[in-house]
Amino acid sequence: MNGKPMRCPICGQPVAAAAPEYPFCSRRCRTQDLANWAIEAYRVPVTSDDDADGA
Ligand SMILES: [Zn+2]
Repeated sequence: MNGKPMRCPICGQPVAAAAPEYPFCSRRCRTQDLANWAIEAYRVPVTSDDDADGA
């Protein structure tokens, strides 16, 4: 276990590992992330495969 709180990738707030919407702080941010993802998917796929999701 690491004690560091994850930060919401959308708004940057600390998110507890036990948060129901982890790693997002809220459902709203989760939805926003999905929206961003969808927008990116519609754009021309750029091959920048940097390891952004720390899984
Ligand atoms: Zn958030």
